[in-house]
Amino acid sequence: MRHLIVIMIMTRALVFAVTITLGPLTAAAAPCPGHPDALGTGRIIEVDAGSTPRIGHKQFPSTLPLRAKELVLTFDDGPWPGTTAKVLDALRTECVRATFFLLGRNAAANPQLARRALAEGQTVGHHSYSHPLLGRMGVARAEAEIDRGIAADEFALYGERRTKPTTPFFRFPGFVSSRALLERMIERGIVVFGADVWASDWVRMTPEQELRLILSRIDQVGRGIVLFHDTKAQTARMLPAFLRELKRRGYSIVHAIPAGKHG
Ligand SMILES: [Zn+2]
Repeated sequence: MRHLIVIMIMTRALVFAVTITLGPLTAAAAPCPGHPDALGTGRIIEVDAGSTPRIGHKQFPSTLPLRAKELVLTFDDGPWPGTTAKVLDALRTECVRATFFLLGRNAAANPQLARRALAEGQTVGHHSYSHPLLGRMGVARAEAEIDRGIAADEFALYGERRTKPTTPFFRFPGFVSSRALLERMIERGIVVFGADVWASDWVRMTPEQELRLILSRIDQVGRGIVLFHDTKAQTARMLPAFLRELKRRGYSIVHAIPAGKHG
């Protein structure tokens, strides 16, 4: 009897410990009102520069701790007239939460689209002001460009021109970084996103071709951070069918948010 009680106490302690460990990292997302068959967002994962400063196997040794068939969707270079709204429509229809990496110059030109993404619960991160290859510039110039982008995004999103990002997520244009810039990002507590799989949507193709290509690549890697561009018409056009097909194939969407911002 005494042994049993000890085991029970130990088991409870273990469950408690596991809960504490997983509690701040993951949370179940809400169901999709009015669309019971929606792809939806399976869970939320908090991402912080302390534990995962650089993520994405295409560029770095580590990525997000995703389970089999879990995907984080990301969209770069917007907001862009015409295409970004279509992307947001498709995500909203399926109750899918994704991450957008804005260009400051596009956020300045289309602030209403940036604010719409935010209002619809999308994560909005940063991608420089004008898309230069930052790792090939001097560090001071590169950081000035990064800050100009963050300030333009923050102004479009929140009406305040600041260089400390509300969402400390950054993706280097063309994935071109440098050791010094990556170090600076860690110092600033900014998570650097790479990717695990992409649609090569910078190459011109039909939406049907892009759909087939990205689905086959996702099936190969099985999980990961997916890179698209919401500036591309072919991507915007294939997205509704893509999300439907992910549902049919049993994939689950994970929403990446900054640590400490849940709820
Ligand atoms: Zn880009």
